[in-house]
Amino acid sequence: MKNKVIINGGGVAGLAMSLFLKKANIESVLYEQAKAYRKSGGHFVVHPSGLNMLEMLGLGSEVEKNTHFITDMAILDKNNNSLIDEDEMAEMGLDEIDLDDTPPFINAARYRLIDVLYQEALRQGIDIRFNKRLNGFTQDKDGVTVTFEDGSTDFGSILIGADGVKSKTRELLFPFPANPLKYSGKTAVFGMVDNDDLGKLKDYFTMDTTLMYVDENSIFFVSKHHPSAEEISWSLISERPGKLPKKDFEEKPVKELKKDIASKFEDWEMPIKELVMTTDHIIAKQLYMIDLMRHYYHGRVVLIGDALHTADPFAGMGTTLALEDAMYLAKMLRDNDYEDAFYYYEHDRKPRAEKVYKSAELINDPDAKFEDFAIFDEGIDAVW
Ligand SMILES: Cc1cc2nc3c(=O)[nH]c(=O)nc-3n(C[C@H](O)[C@H](O)[C@H](O)COP(=O)(O)OP(=O)(O)OC[C@H]3O[C@@H](n4cnc5c(N)ncnc54)[C@H](O)[C@@H]3O)c2cc1C
Repeated sequence: MKNKVIINGGGVAGLAMSLFLKKANIESVLYEQAKAYRKSGGHFVVHPSGLNMLEMLGLGSEVEKNTHFITDMAILDKNNNSLIDEDEMAEMGLDEIDLDDTPPFINAARYRLIDVLYQEALRQGIDIRFNKRLNGFTQDKDGVTVTFEDGSTDFGSILIGADGVKSKTRELLFPFPANPLKYSGKTAVFGMVDNDDLGKLKDYFTMDTTLMYVDENSIFFVSKHHPSAEEISWSLISERPGKLPKKDFEEKPVKELKKDIASKFEDWEMPIKELVMTTDHIIAKQLYMIDLMRHYYHGRVVLIGDALHTADPFAGMGTTLALEDAMYLAKMLRDNDYEDAFYYYEHDRKPRAEKVYKSAELINDPDAKFEDFAIFDEGIDAVW
């Protein structure tokens, strides 16, 4: 690569991209709109394949120190009864599923995983520039010129858009009406609580077991996300067919929002209602999605992570896909010129991304077989 690569967006996808490019001996500069990384966001699960990508970056032990390995998980109903019926599982061919036998996967606080990647990027001398919000680019036969809202510009051989669900790079590359962002019919609320604030609730929610409560239209997940158990995190993903005005959800005062959420758990066996009311750090989002993308790139500009595919929140695969994208695109760039690299990246990643996307639709399909789902030990079929 004659000139450096420009990465736009410093979430998990962008940071991992910069590290994989470094591993491939390709120089990059990463632009991030935030002024700095902060303790923000909630938790996410990273599946075994995503964890493999982090290990390929040599971050296995840092990840171990900063996240929670899920070794025990209970799937329960509102009365605290297990929803795992062993006979039914055997019928579905799932009798072999035992967390002791499945590859490891983790629950992570977003800010902690970002910090693991960021510290490693700093250690490796990767050029990261904050407070830079991309608002345009042009490309010609020599490269891409990007412009930022502050009027500054930069020139690189290629541009990698890693700027999340509402990607400006995607919007400019494939303008409306291609790939419109649509309300997904689902909402997510993420909470994080210091264990010192939990009082008596500590006995219910700070054990190593990850708890997942499932009812007809939602999943409530609560787990440690760090070995020290200083904090726990929870999330409530719900189906909500009609979008609410932002003032009634994202922008609702936290006190009122908590009351709304807590009311759902009024007659539940576990004190989830009290847990919600004890939580001050809450993020509420009505979730947006794009349909499967036909094209992953155009010319010298390519997309990765949430900018490229919005994974269904029930599947919890967004971060895993982002890490896989970063590894595979860097590997292709290591071995090919950018034109072939983009071609193989799109061609080889599509089946995996499409399977993940379609698995979400299968959740309500009684005829779906286990192998139809892109959930656990499946992942990207490639090594560095
Ligand atoms: C603040 C925040 C909190 C989140 N919290 C959760 C959570 O609690 N649970 C969960 O499951 N998922 C959460 N997510 C989403 C989750 O991190 C992603 O789904 C997943 O990790 C894939 O990451 P990504 O890097 O592709 O996208 P993202 O994590 O969305 O990262 C995109 C990055 O690009 C930056 N960016 C956006 N536009 C521009 C621009 N024009 N110029 C420069 N930079 C730009 C953003 O600031 C962000 O850092 C959160 C995302 C963000 C941004």
